[in-house]
Amino acid sequence: MRTPPRTKGRLPYNMAALWRTCRRRFPGPSRLCRTGRAFGSGENEYDLVVVGGGSGGLACAKEASQFGKKVAVLDYVDPSPKGTKWGLGGTCVNVGCIPKKLMHQAALLGGLLKDAQRYGWNTSHPISHDWSTLAKAVQNYVKSLNWGHRVQLQDKRVKYFNLKGCFLDAHTIRAVGKGSKEVSCLVSHQVICLSASVGSNLGLRIISGAREYGITSDDLFWLKKSPGKTLVVGASYVSLECAGFLTGLGLDATVMMRSIPLRGFDQQMASLVTDYMEAHGTRFLKKCSPTKVKKTDHGRLRVTWKFAESGKEKSDEFDTVMWAVGRAPDTKTLNLEVAGVKTNAETGKILVDARETTSVPHIYAIGDITEGRPELTPTAIAAGKCLARRLFGQSAELMDYDNVPTTVFTPLEYGCVGLSEETATDRFGSENIEVYHAFYKPLEFTVAEREAAQCYIKMVCLRQEEQRILGLHFIGPNAGEVIQGFALGIKCGATYSQMMKTVGIHPTCAEEVTKLHITKRSGADPTVTGC
Ligand code: FAD
Ligand code: NDP
Repeated sequence: MRTPPRTKGRLPYNMAALWRTCRRRFPGPSRLCRTGRAFGSGENEYDLVVVGGGSGGLACAKEASQFGKKVAVLDYVDPSPKGTKWGLGGTCVNVGCIPKKLMHQAALLGGLLKDAQRYGWNTSHPISHDWSTLAKAVQNYVKSLNWGHRVQLQDKRVKYFNLKGCFLDAHTIRAVGKGSKEVSCLVSHQVICLSASVGSNLGLRIISGAREYGITSDDLFWLKKSPGKTLVVGASYVSLECAGFLTGLGLDATVMMRSIPLRGFDQQMASLVTDYMEAHGTRFLKKCSPTKVKKTDHGRLRVTWKFAESGKEKSDEFDTVMWAVGRAPDTKTLNLEVAGVKTNAETGKILVDARETTSVPHIYAIGDITEGRPELTPTAIAAGKCLARRLFGQSAELMDYDNVPTTVFTPLEYGCVGLSEETATDRFGSENIEVYHAFYKPLEFTVAEREAAQCYIKMVCLRQEEQRILGLHFIGPNAGEVIQGFALGIKCGATYSQMMKTVGIHPTCAEEVTKLHITKRSGADPTVTGC
C-alpha cells in the first residue's frame, strides 16, 4: 500500500497502519477513521456509500435517502488531459447530453433562420454565429445544474464529498481530494454502489501527436473559442452528433470513419443519417484511419491518414482534431482487487448480475461502468433508483434493459426502440419478420423547400398473427419526442394491428408511424404522397 503524502497541518501518517490501529481499537462490524477526527464515532459510517455522482450514482443516493438511510456520495472529476474540469453531476450534465443537446439546438436554429425567409421573415442582414456567446450560455446553464445537484443532495441529507474514492478493503472507501489534501475513510457494511464514470479515449498512443494535439468531446463543450475547421475521428453517437452541430454552426467539420457509422444501430438508418449530414455540408473521409498529427509552423494541425483499401496516405490541415473513438472505464484507480470486485479483462468494465451485484455481494455497480449495459443516462438513473428500492425498500423489481429507446441527435435526428432489422432477421429469420416502411416529407419542410430524401420510418414486426412490433426506427425532426411515446406501446407489447388502430395527430411527423402500410417485401414504392 502506498503511503499517502503529508496533509496540510496534520501529522504524516500511513493509511494502512491507521486503518489497522482503528480496527484494533474498535473491533466489530464497522468503524470510521477520518484524518484528524475521533475514531469510532460513526460519523463516517454509512448505510450506503456511492462512488460517482453522475446520473446513476445521484439517482441511487437520493432514492436511498428517501428510506431514511444514511448516504454518502463521492464525486471527483479528474481534469481531461487538456485540463478541462467540471462540477457535480457526471458526464451527462457536464460533458454529455446537456451541453450536446443545447449545441445541437443552436445548430438547428441556424437552419430555422434560413427557413424563416421562406416563411416571410426578413432576415436579409448577414447572419453569423458567435461560439463564445453559445459556449458561455451553455456553460452557465451547466453550472446552474451543478449547483442544483448540490442543493438537492443537501435537501435530502445525502452527504456529498468532492473526493476521489478507491477501495481500502471491501467495506471501506478511501477518499482523497485534490493534491491529496483530504483523506477520509467512508465505511459501509451494508452497501457500496459504484457509478464512477468512463472517460473519453484521447486518441491512440500509437498515433504520433494524437494525445498532444487532440481534444475530446469533454473539452469541446468547454472551449471558449470556436474550434474552427475540425476533424472528428470516429463514427458513432459522439462523433456524428458533434460533427453535426459544428457543421450546423457554420464550421467546416469532417468525420473520419474507419468502418461503418453507428455500429450496433440499424445500418439502413445509419446510412440515411450520414447521407443527410453529407448532403448538408459535413465532409466524410471513409474507410481510413489517422496515422499522425503534427503542429504546423503557423499553429494549425496537419493530420495524415491512410486509406484501408489502397494503403495510400493523404493529409490536410485543421484547427482542431477531436477524438470520438469511444470511452473507457477508469476502474484501475478504484483498487477493485482489494475488495474482490471482478471486471472484464478486455473492457475493464465491472461484471454485474441482473440485480447489479458485482462479484462481492454487498457491492453493486450501475451505469456506464458496468459490462453490457447501454451507456445512457435514463438507464443509469432507472437502474440506480431500482437498486435503492430493492436494497432499502420492499421492492424486488429488477431494471429492465429491454426495449430501451434512444435518439442520436444528428442534424436530422434518428430515434429508435427495439430491434434493428438486422438483429430481428438474425433472431427470427427473414421469412418470419415483416418490415413496414415509408419515406415521408415533414409538412414544415415544404414551404421551406427543404429536401426530405432521408426522412424515413421503419417498423419491424413479427410476421405471424397480430404482428408484434419488434423495433421502430424514425428519422426526422424531433425524433426523440416521437419515439418516446411509441416506446411505451412497444414496451407493452404493441402489435402492428394496434398501431394501425391508433388515430394519428394531424399534421405531424409522428402520425406517419400510424399509417405505415407498405411492406419491404412487396417492393412497392414507400414514398408517402398526399396528406
Ligand atoms: P457518469 O455520469 O459519468 O458519472 C460518474 C461520475 O463519477 C463522474 O462525475 C466522475 O467524475 C465520477 N468519478 C469517477 N471515478 C470516481 C472516483 N474514483 N471517485 C469519485 N468519483 C468518481 N446519454 C443519453 O441518454 N442521452 C444523450 O443525449 C447522451 N449524450 C451524450 C453525449 C456525450 C458527448 C457523451 C460523452 C455521453 C452522452 N450520453 C448520453 C451518455 C451519458 O452521459 C452517460 O450514459 C451517463 O452520464 C452515465 O451515467 P453514470 O452515472 O454511469 O456515469
Ligand atoms: P462508441 O464506442 O459508440 O464508438 C466509437 C467510434 O470510434 C466507432 O465509430 C469506432 O469505430 C471508432 N473508433 C474506435 N477506435 C478507433 C480508432 N482507433 N480509429 C478510428 N476510429 C475508431 O463511442 P462514442 O464515444 O460515440 O459513444 C459512447 C457512448 O456514449 C455510446 O455508446 C452511447 O451510449 C453514449 N452516447 C449517447 C448519446 C445519445 O444518447 N444521444 C450521445 C453520445 C454518446 P468502429 O465502429 O469501427 O469500432
